[in-house]
Amino acid sequence: MDNFFSKLAPSYTFEIFPPKGNKSTEGTYGVIDSLVSFNPDLISVTYGAGGSSRDNTVEIASGIQNRYHTCGVAHLTCVGTTREDIRAILDQLKANGVRNILALRGDLKDKSDLGDFHYASELIKFIKDNYGDDFDVFAACYPEKHPEAPSIEEDLRHLKEKCELGVKGLISQLFFDNDIFSRWRDKARAMGITQPIIAGVMPITSAAQIEKVVEMCGASVPERVRRFVNAYGHHQGAVKEAGIAYATEQIIDLLARDVEGIHLYTMNQADTVRRIDSGIRSVLYTKRYAVRADG
Ligand SMILES: Cc1cc2nc3c(=O)[nH]c(=O)nc-3n(C[C@H](O)[C@H](O)[C@H](O)COP(=O)(O)OP(=O)(O)OC[C@H]3O[C@@H](n4cnc5c(N)ncnc54)[C@H](O)[C@@H]3O)c2cc1C
Repeated sequence: MDNFFSKLAPSYTFEIFPPKGNKSTEGTYGVIDSLVSFNPDLISVTYGAGGSSRDNTVEIASGIQNRYHTCGVAHLTCVGTTREDIRAILDQLKANGVRNILALRGDLKDKSDLGDFHYASELIKFIKDNYGDDFDVFAACYPEKHPEAPSIEEDLRHLKEKCELGVKGLISQLFFDNDIFSRWRDKARAMGITQPIIAGVMPITSAAQIEKVVEMCGASVPERVRRFVNAYGHHQGAVKEAGIAYATEQIIDLLARDVEGIHLYTMNQADTVRRIDSGIRSVLYTKRYAVRADG
């Protein structure tokens, strides 16, 4: 099976969302047309609530794999799903040649939203027990701990349980402070978590977005970021410029810290990705050649 970790390090991956509900997939394919020109190692597709959104995840992940010959990763969650639902989706993905899954619990409004699986680990175990090595399974991790976890250590213990089920790699929640990420990664390694960890980066493109993101995932916002959002917040174009510059610098610094990969939360904004890509490309490739030369 195609395992991109064996080919390129550090890896360079993108995340997109599918169209909601019954909206056409053509706009999303327009975004993918641009994204593939930056040669990502994979493009992952988020998974939301509701039947048609979920069908769109399968459709778009399959399209990435088959139309663009780029590794497509389907996100899957435990929210409102039975074993049979998951089996039907996995069978469809397998038939379409999609061999990479990001297995998640999903965001909950209420615990009763969950179906047959209560934690991502149960979903991962189901995939492994029923499909063996047909799928490479990835899992999520949280450099500032998952909001519901009582402590980083407790969260890492559960992360290790996911890893021990045979997860290929970890994709991190977005963060803005690389020191926080480095300290957490050291703790994860000290606990025996050995899987490659792909660092999640989201460019800030508006003042409203940062409030929403912080509320959703609790990421710490460095003073420097707060300052540019406050200073330029009334002018979206200026916040976006500053956000692109910050994300570019953040990635260059992460690469210098020897991360195993960068995962860009693209928000389907191909132009933002183009700007960041042109800022990091020479550094990314310098790192890749250095890793190869080291053997
Ligand atoms: C890269 C990335 C992509 C994402 N994509 C999507 C998406 O497409 N769709 C979507 O809906 N959401 C998505 N999310 C959000 C994710 O679904 C939420 O963060 C969710 O709340 C947790 O998912 P998880 O897979 O990390 O859960 P889990 O690993 O199950 O952890 C959830 C919580 O339970 C705790 N825990 C785990 N196992 C146990 C146990 N056995 N006993 C007690 N506590 C336990 C953990 O410490 C944590 O606090 C994404 C997140 C990331 C980082």
